[in-house]
Amino acid sequence: MLVVLLGPPGAGKGTQGELLARALGVPRIATGDVLRTAVKAGTPMGLAAKAAMDRGDLVPDDVILEILRESLATPEAANGAVLDGVVRTVPQAEGLARTLASLGRPLDLVLFFDAPAEALVERLSGRTTCDTCQTPYTGRAPGTRCDKCGGTLVRRADDDPESVRRRIVVYEEQTAPVLAWYRANGPRVAMVDAIGALDEVAARAHRALNV
Ligand code: AMP
Repeated sequence: MLVVLLGPPGAGKGTQGELLARALGVPRIATGDVLRTAVKAGTPMGLAAKAAMDRGDLVPDDVILEILRESLATPEAANGAVLDGVVRTVPQAEGLARTLASLGRPLDLVLFFDAPAEALVERLSGRTTCDTCQTPYTGRAPGTRCDKCGGTLVRRADDDPESVRRRIVVYEEQTAPVLAWYRANGPRVAMVDAIGALDEVAARAHRALNV
């Protein structure tokens, strides 16, 4: 099962994507996580991406499509994947479609996590993220430990109010059109109301997927 998660920043794609990936028995592939790991490791890709990420801007499509090609080619992804935050522009949607066509692998579903902008700013400014495994938390102070891996919780540089506002503008301008692109080109798009308790939203997402 190959699923694309769409939705504005802070709609909960990361958390819900992790739950869905576990339910489906496939990996969650998140370009944001891959890029943050590269920034932390100081690789050439990380160094090139850091400034745009900190501002809340997108990194170039060719970088993303390369990450995607490599991630989809791993044995773990042979039976599918949950692609989280991976398709942020129409050229990325087109590039993913070309890559999948060349691999003979269809995309099964697009899940759109829907949330109004006011909820997003509030969610993101209260969020901390593990600096090791990237698990997001709400209501947990920076410097405390991750429940999963013992890493340190930090405030992401792009979760400061100015970068959050920029990310929402970038989303409206460049990512929102991806929804229309999938509606025109397939596969099926399912809408999930992303406002509510974690398990409520998860139940809606599972229903949309029939898992
Ligand atoms: P995320 O963790 O999904 O919120 O992504 C964090 C940041 O990484 C974004 O604000 C972008 O700067 C960059 N990024 C992640 N995925 C993509 C993508 N598919 N296209 C362009 N930039 C991306």
